[in-house]
Amino acid sequence: RAMRKFIVGNWKMNGTSADLAEIEAIAAMATSYAASVDSALCIPATLIDRATSRLLEYTLGGQDCHMQVSGAHTGCVSAEMLADAGAALTLVGHSERRAGQNETDADIRGKAQAAQNAGLKVIICVGETLEERDAGQALEIVLGQVQKSVPDEAGSDWLSIAYEPVWAIGTGRIPEDSDVAEMHWAIREQLVARFGPDGKNISILYGGSMNGDNAPMLLAIPNVDGGLIGGASLTATKFEPILAAA
Ligand code: PEP
Repeated sequence: RAMRKFIVGNWKMNGTSADLAEIEAIAAMATSYAASVDSALCIPATLIDRATSRLLEYTLGGQDCHMQVSGAHTGCVSAEMLADAGAALTLVGHSERRAGQNETDADIRGKAQAAQNAGLKVIICVGETLEERDAGQALEIVLGQVQKSVPDEAGSDWLSIAYEPVWAIGTGRIPEDSDVAEMHWAIREQLVARFGPDGKNISILYGGSMNGDNAPMLLAIPNVDGGLIGGASLTATKFEPILAAA
């Protein structure tokens, strides 16, 4: 399989209008790699409209969406709203939302479906905690999350999965190559068993402390089709070596 790598930045709750220039710098940098690698940047919802009006050529995304189209959900943002603001994709099920907002696999599945209905591409995030890995449960936990969070309508034209060990996010720690390879292979097997040949084309990204130094090694692991990058996506200077490695 020769799949184009997909490198996605996640700004989390960082960024105001003062950072629009950095988003532009990232877009310009990423566009220079567009012949060989797909990329996108998931920014705060408040910046999407202004950023897309400056950057018609670059893919911007949200970091979450509600599962309903509209209604009495104070403070929430629907997939339609993200799309209307100019987003082309969204993350759902990031571990910071699973843990911090008590999101369940069923919630994430509903959000993924809502996002697809709104015409967005979707990245569903999964990953085990350190306690779960130490207890030898990592595969079981992650495969359970994939099974329950991924909608039956999944297709490689709109869905990617991001495997992000919770203990690797923002910590500077990364798993052994062999553990990443084992997990990505197991996710691939499950996707193919459930969705047939199209399961081979669903990108499986790795996320968790990926940076310019470790990206060449991580992106060379079989079934690692790209990366989801937090801290190292905040500036064009830090993000560029990851795109160069892809
Ligand atoms: C993330 O937020 O998805 C992530 C992987 O963060 P970091 O790269 O900072 O570990």
